[in-house]
Amino acid sequence: MSAGHGGRRWRALRARKLAESRYCEACGRLTDPSVKALAPELDHVDPHSLGGPPTWTNTRVLCHECNRSKGAKTIEQWKPIMLVEPYSW
Ligand SMILES: [Zn+2]
Repeated sequence: MSAGHGGRRWRALRARKLAESRYCEACGRLTDPSVKALAPELDHVDPHSLGGPPTWTNTRVLCHECNRSKGAKTIEQWKPIMLVEPYSW
């Protein structure tokens, strides 16, 4: 298997995803390649490390900041952190 990050298929998939939406699917901000925190990245919905395939339905656009915050977690493990509001308690 050589279709991981950086491969030609991955880059093509990333380009198609970004052509469809340039908004981060987690925080909703418009991604911006010229701003490091907002640089668009293609994320695996099911983590690559857990066998998630690099396919259209298993990937989405995240900004660099969200992708870094998510790391190798699944969305179920990650979302609860994202949904915590600092002053809700
Ligand atoms: Zn984001």
